[in-house]
Amino acid sequence: MDVTELTLKSAQTGLEQNRFTSVELTQSYLERIKKYNPKYHAFVTVNPQALVEAKAADQLRAKGKKLPLLGIPLAPKDNFLYSKMRSTAASKLLDNYIPQYDSTVVSKLKAAGAVVIGKTNLDFWGHGSSGEHTDYGIPHNPYAFDRVTGGSSSGSGTAVAADLCLMGTGSDTGGSNRQPGSYCNVVGVKPTYGRVSRYGVIAMASSTDSMGPLTKTVEDAAKFLSVMAGHDLLDATTVKLPVPHYHLNLETERKFTLGLIAEYFEGLDKKYLKVIEAAVKKLEDRGHQVKRLSIPAVKYAYPMYCLTVFAEIASNLSRFDGIRYGYDRDAFGEETKRRIMIGTHSASSGYADKYYNQAMAGRKMLTYQFKQALETVDAFIGPVFPFPPFKIGERETDPLKMYLSDVLTVPANLTGNPAVSVPIEFVNGLPNGLQIICKHFDEQTMFQIAHQVEEDYQMYKLRPKLV
Ligand code: GLN
Repeated sequence: MDVTELTLKSAQTGLEQNRFTSVELTQSYLERIKKYNPKYHAFVTVNPQALVEAKAADQLRAKGKKLPLLGIPLAPKDNFLYSKMRSTAASKLLDNYIPQYDSTVVSKLKAAGAVVIGKTNLDFWGHGSSGEHTDYGIPHNPYAFDRVTGGSSSGSGTAVAADLCLMGTGSDTGGSNRQPGSYCNVVGVKPTYGRVSRYGVIAMASSTDSMGPLTKTVEDAAKFLSVMAGHDLLDATTVKLPVPHYHLNLETERKFTLGLIAEYFEGLDKKYLKVIEAAVKKLEDRGHQVKRLSIPAVKYAYPMYCLTVFAEIASNLSRFDGIRYGYDRDAFGEETKRRIMIGTHSASSGYADKYYNQAMAGRKMLTYQFKQALETVDAFIGPVFPFPPFKIGERETDPLKMYLSDVLTVPANLTGNPAVSVPIEFVNGLPNGLQIICKHFDEQTMFQIAHQVEEDYQMYKLRPKLV
């Protein structure tokens, strides 16, 4: 079996038809991890029990057990707690932290029969857009070794793109699943806020954290999300709505109205504009309608994000006081300290009226404008990143330059809408994604549109040449 050719679907067929076992499949990935992880840094920790888990899955299959992810090797981002392994959130502060319980997502994946092959790297605590803010080695882009992978779910993006596992989970607080999706030529999903439980995922910003899949294909992502999603008594912000089998309803005759938001295209590099326009044209050729819109509050989304999300970061990270978990606060990296300071300042008394409260008012305005616009269209489509994957080290010393990476992804986090990055034509030989944003809890439409884009491009067939 050649794992570079596998998707979730074909791996499942292979397992069902006894063409290979989960132990063999897991072994193939472990060999690749051994070979490539020292260079690519996709994993913080490899699960020493992965083959034991795979064997248990094979035994269940032999007994006739049918489970949605039985024997599938996948990898949670290292901020998802799994009681059998350490969870570092890629910070040395938690270098030796072994959780006492599983996150709801990991429990669901285990109950679905999945094999946890390892825990993936990230910008520590989720703080970053490139993968460079990690204490466990910077992940390298499988399509261009000297370039970044996008962040913060950088390890899951790298692992899936480099075929070191079949699928990865990520947490998207301001773009962290869509960004590595776009830069690593994989599908990165941010579900609606409240669709997937946040329980047991080390919190970055509680009002925007959204857990979702990174996969090679849209169908894989759709199936993966239907396993992860759902109401959870342990997370009061999850909603009691049925979770569709998204992957069974990808084909549709529906004709959509697609909104192009002017503010997403302002100042966009011409090469990017051309590629995005070509993708839009292909959708028009399928009979969908395009409507041009303006959502003025989008221009202020990044400052809103910075003032509200950083305040939540400061609050959530106060529990890491060196007494209860891991090492003390000296172990926080520069970027994390910067965010704690900005966030504390923005929400503290005497300043909150000027900063945090204004940003919250702006956030309400943005949410309202999104909602109104989404009454006239089925989805927004546009770019994910304003520029191509940059060289490792190029932006790291200038936080403001780095923050620019997030201007097109943070709006959907502030408003809670579901969004996906689906691979389209490369720009200057480097991966690039199309962003699709839909109405709250309408992930089904989002996957249907993404599926059509994928049919047009089939970028997952273009495997990287690893060094
Ligand atoms: N890149 C964004 C940031 O640095 C988003 C990170 C995330 O979604 N976790 O805050």
